[in-house]
Amino acid sequence: MASNEKENELRCDSCGDEIYECDECGAEFEDGNDIICFDGGEKHFCSHDCLENYILDITEETTARSEN
Ligand SMILES: [Zn+2]
Ligand SMILES: [Zn+2]
Repeated sequence: MASNEKENELRCDSCGDEIYECDECGAEFEDGNDIICFDGGEKHFCSHDCLENYILDITEETTARSEN
């Protein structure tokens, strides 16, 4: 009965986790996408741009905190 729901299941080649969408821009992953596995499978990104944006975000957060 549930076989149809499995069709969109996608797993990371690197860590083997089930993945659904980019952790930066929210784009849904599709088969054949160049998915970037980051932080041991904690995050997944659809492109190097998204990875760079994510790293910029966390770097800015860290900077803002140390300024306060
Ligand atoms: Zn993305
Ligand atoms: Zn992964």
